[in-house]
Amino acid sequence: MDNIYTPEKRKITDIEIDNTSTVISDIPAFEKTVWLSSPTMHGDEIKYIEEAYNTNWMSTIGENIDEAERGICKLTGSKYAVALNCGTSAIHLAIRVAGVKPGDKVFCSDLTFDATVNPVSYEGAVQVFIDSEYETWNMDPKALEKAFKIHPDVKVVVLANLYGTPAKLDEIRHICDLHGAILIEDAAESLGATYKGKQTGTFGQYNAISFNGNKIITGSAGGMFLTDDLDVANKVRKWSTQSREDAPWYQHEELGYNYRMSNIVAGVVRGQLPYLSDHIAQKKAIYMRYKEAFKDLPVSMNPYIESIMEPNFWLSCILIDKEAMCEQVRTDKKASYHKEVPGTTCPTEIYQQLMSHNAQCRPIWKPMHLQPIYRMNEFITNNGKVSDVGADIFNRGLCLPSDNKMTAEEQDIIIKIIRKCFDR
Ligand SMILES: *Cc1c(COP(=O)(O)O)cnc(C)c1O
Repeated sequence: MDNIYTPEKRKITDIEIDNTSTVISDIPAFEKTVWLSSPTMHGDEIKYIEEAYNTNWMSTIGENIDEAERGICKLTGSKYAVALNCGTSAIHLAIRVAGVKPGDKVFCSDLTFDATVNPVSYEGAVQVFIDSEYETWNMDPKALEKAFKIHPDVKVVVLANLYGTPAKLDEIRHICDLHGAILIEDAAESLGATYKGKQTGTFGQYNAISFNGNKIITGSAGGMFLTDDLDVANKVRKWSTQSREDAPWYQHEELGYNYRMSNIVAGVVRGQLPYLSDHIAQKKAIYMRYKEAFKDLPVSMNPYIESIMEPNFWLSCILIDKEAMCEQVRTDKKASYHKEVPGTTCPTEIYQQLMSHNAQCRPIWKPMHLQPIYRMNEFITNNGKVSDVGADIFNRGLCLPSDNKMTAEEQDIIIKIIRKCFDR
């Protein structure tokens, strides 16, 4: 419909919305886009890039890589870190080193980005998706337990910490240990978050972090594989550089990959590392401002268990109460909504209003079991009354602008727009 592009004439590019409502026109759109989460540079990054350039370490070897790995070990408490070209590669090599074979079943988080689970398919194995719980939005330990009852032979679990909030890591690790399964922790979104004082990215035998451009700190790209096992770290490092044997020529006994991090990317990571805690503090302030502002609205924020965890607050999300939801219909690629009852809204309306005001938001990750590519995969939920928690969160939730450079004034306007959605 035409009206969603007026009066600002801004185009909503990633989702087509068909609706009966009009754009909020008494609040002007932002001149400059307020981003969901964009890179924040501090100056040291360019120094390390220049250093690499001037000393001609323009490859996948160099001081920046060594320092970035050392820095991440110090920060997380992981014994070893292997710098890679992206987080997805780290998950892939984790799957491989865990011994996953074609046809194997692997238990995976369901409510996550597809990069968490795609590497299972790279190895010809099959994802069995495990539903989420409402306290952290992450893998439900009860559903995982149930999954092990159905498939006692499964030997690998891939767990993501969503939006920077740790999962119920002790419970999950305990269940894995009980069944002799290896835990792979995808901490791509949760670098710097802690669970009972311990950094995420250290709870699995093998762990992955990411320095993708929208993460809490970035290398423009990049990722790391973390483990406490020296042999495994060496193996992964070797695989990531085409599996060269120690020989005078190119000798290969194992399949290799070109997955190593560039020394330039590592320079950016190295420059960003000292600012991780600043970014977390800024993101937490954003989360808390939203939380305070929405106290009287029928919404809640993406939750965490305060007594045992400290998220990195990468993205602030809201979940609209069931009673406050207007009708919303989503097909594979389109969304529409209808506001019949006053005081109701839905993620599609808020998305439309924020995007047309030049504030970037995102739907919650669409659960993997709802993705056409994984439609044949098994999906295991908890026995309780509410099944398919992930689909419910996808339906009622939205990721709000969470950029650490967003000003309080900008956030106030975003809050105003969201409040208006409930009040029209
Ligand atoms: C970003 C992300 C990844 C992948 O990281 P890349 O570095 O982009 O490959 C994996 N899992 C989750 C949950 C992510 O958000």
